[in-house]
Amino acid sequence: MRFKAIQVAQSRTIPQINTDVTDIPSLFGINTFGKEAMKEYLSKDVYESVNKTIKAGKTIQRDIAQKVADGMKRWALDKGAISFTHWFQPLTGLTAEKHDSFYEVWEGKAIEKFSANSLSQQEPDASSLPSGGLRNTFEARGYTAWDPSSPAFIMEKASGKTLCIPTIFVSYHGEALDYKAPLLKTMALLSNAATAVCNYFDNTVKHVGASLGIEQEYFLIDRALYDARPDLVLTGRTVLGQSPAKGQQLEDHYFGAIPSRVFNFMYDLELESMKLGIPLRTRHNEVAPGQYECAPMFEEINLAVDHNQLLMDLMEEVGRKHGFKVLLHEKPFAGINGSGKHNNWSLITDKGNNLLSPGNDPLSNLQFLTFFINIIKAFDYSAPLLRASIASAANDHRLGANEAPPAIMSVFIGSTLTKVLNDFEAGKKSKTENDNKKINIHNLPDILVDNTDRNRTSPFAFTGNKFEFRAVGSSENCGRPMIALNAAVANQLIAFKKDVDALIAKKKKTEDAIKEVLKSYLKTSKKVLFEGNGYSDEWAAEAKKRGLENIKNTIGSLEIYLSKMADDIFVKNGIFTKEELHARYEIKLEDYIKKIQIEGRILEEMVYTLVIPAAIEYQKKLADSCNSSVNAGISKKNMKQTLDFLEEIWSLTEMLKKEVDIMVEHRKKANVLTDTTKKAKAYCNNVKPCFDIIRKCSDKLERYIDNDIWKVLKYRELLFVK
Ligand code: ADP
Ligand code: MG
Repeated sequence: MRFKAIQVAQSRTIPQINTDVTDIPSLFGINTFGKEAMKEYLSKDVYESVNKTIKAGKTIQRDIAQKVADGMKRWALDKGAISFTHWFQPLTGLTAEKHDSFYEVWEGKAIEKFSANSLSQQEPDASSLPSGGLRNTFEARGYTAWDPSSPAFIMEKASGKTLCIPTIFVSYHGEALDYKAPLLKTMALLSNAATAVCNYFDNTVKHVGASLGIEQEYFLIDRALYDARPDLVLTGRTVLGQSPAKGQQLEDHYFGAIPSRVFNFMYDLELESMKLGIPLRTRHNEVAPGQYECAPMFEEINLAVDHNQLLMDLMEEVGRKHGFKVLLHEKPFAGINGSGKHNNWSLITDKGNNLLSPGNDPLSNLQFLTFFINIIKAFDYSAPLLRASIASAANDHRLGANEAPPAIMSVFIGSTLTKVLNDFEAGKKSKTENDNKKINIHNLPDILVDNTDRNRTSPFAFTGNKFEFRAVGSSENCGRPMIALNAAVANQLIAFKKDVDALIAKKKKTEDAIKEVLKSYLKTSKKVLFEGNGYSDEWAAEAKKRGLENIKNTIGSLEIYLSKMADDIFVKNGIFTKEELHARYEIKLEDYIKKIQIEGRILEEMVYTLVIPAAIEYQKKLADSCNSSVNAGISKKNMKQTLDFLEEIWSLTEMLKKEVDIMVEHRKKANVLTDTTKKAKAYCNNVKPCFDIIRKCSDKLERYIDNDIWKVLKYRELLFVK
């Protein structure tokens, strides 16, 4: 399998794509029922009414919904779609679809039908999707409901086209079973809270939206190589594999010239994304061999999350066409950088002002400082909740595993803003030096140097006019961390307004009241600010002194869902009920258990069916060679090397088998536990640690065993065969 796969990968032909497409404007969004299509297929009245309702966040009336359904159907049929689906984001982290035909059979004839009902609401049942106990089987109905703020789109597959309608997914009693429903709730909460604070400075602001730009990292490997690694196929990561002689140490991949086969894939992906209205903009090589990144232009947060989910599906689809497998796992290869998803987030008013954009002189810019300091305080207070919002078995390999970024939730703001905050706290009027240095090279235009430095090791960094949540895993549904961030910031802004109003009631001037409250916030929250190297041991020690938490694994972090802090931020503000939080806690634990269980099983299978057979085959080869030597009259002393080697391999194989058996024992013990928390802990503390020991033995064998006999595709082949 191993050698065949390499042969297939090496002889792969690159599919031809139309690289002449230059008319991006005419391509952009052609497969979405966006403004252009709506104008064409809806009457002016309906179009305006829909737009107004969406803007105001209100419910669309039934008669209008019917007219939209009619228009949307005609558009989809004109585009060649024959079926439609509600498209939603259940708590699996993936997207879900259940397709229905536009046609109904009536008196032996197929007739078109797509009612307001089919558009607005469906009952896909979907009882096997995770609900964390929110749905009893006797009332297992789940409902999807149209989200008109995210345009419907047409998904093109080789075999046909389908109209996809973005929806929320809720239970019979209205509990959220997805990421979209709570995200929409946090957006309204945040808008109200931020608008109220904005109104201290400008009372004409009516709405504040969160914007999000998601940088997506991923690995690309040839599909044949992927298919030859059962662990990649079943778990998305390699559970075995000796480090290659060359990994990423030369840093020759980062920002390097993009290989033409990869370039072709990226270009195709960009064209397909454009059609769906996903504004992909940047592409480059990342640090690890075979690792890349793409990022769209930022959008309104709900749309950005939908687009990222859609992008991940699209990557898989386009990858297949190019003979690639796109790996979105947080850590597909040990010893090599993992992948994340930087969530660039900011707040923008209905007048288009970015509230996180400092003016020329940030010190005098009180509105900026207000939001900036409140976000820092929100992050400090809710750090454990934010940590939990990105926790998964896969992301555990990155967070706290000496790689970007650490599990300690800190905020990086750069040296200029650190000085601004210090001066503000001290009540100093000192102006900040403008850091825009000129680069003195003849004949070059002036270059503005951005005055926010970069720090790759920070989980939450301020980068100019936005915060960047970098600890998010590459396969995550960004709705999850964004629900936590939106709610945490909204909760903080509500508290801020109360604090300021209390001072105003005592006859303080508004500006003085704001300053006073902000200063007191800084005092308690600045412990979360950190500018140094987040990977260092010194930071772990320093963070401990400051009282910051360093929760290294998923199981430890999830408990916060059941705490007073979660009540404060989510329950009190109407984002989740206690039951919903508990359900999410259960679902994440279950997910963890299953992922580790699958990893353990495939590890066991690979050791027994691929590694040990190779080891035995090699032992036989060595033994045969000794036998022939004996027959040829060579003394045992002169065969010492071969014999020693044989013994080494024999004992490693023995050890390997023993370690796998220990793991299997732990697994059996864990499986009989009925309490989910206890079971998850058993998997985390007893089963998972065995993986590393098993891997060590197997990787050592890989180093010794004859290359022709070794059966598992090697790291150097996975990463470097192009
Ligand atoms: P970098 O690698 O320097 O972080 P990239 O260009 O790779 O920069 O990605 C930056 C991301 O941040 C892009 O998706 C961009 O659209 C997004 N972004 C820029 N400004 C904002 C903003 N105000 N709000 C949200 N996202 C933003
Ligand atoms: Mg970035």
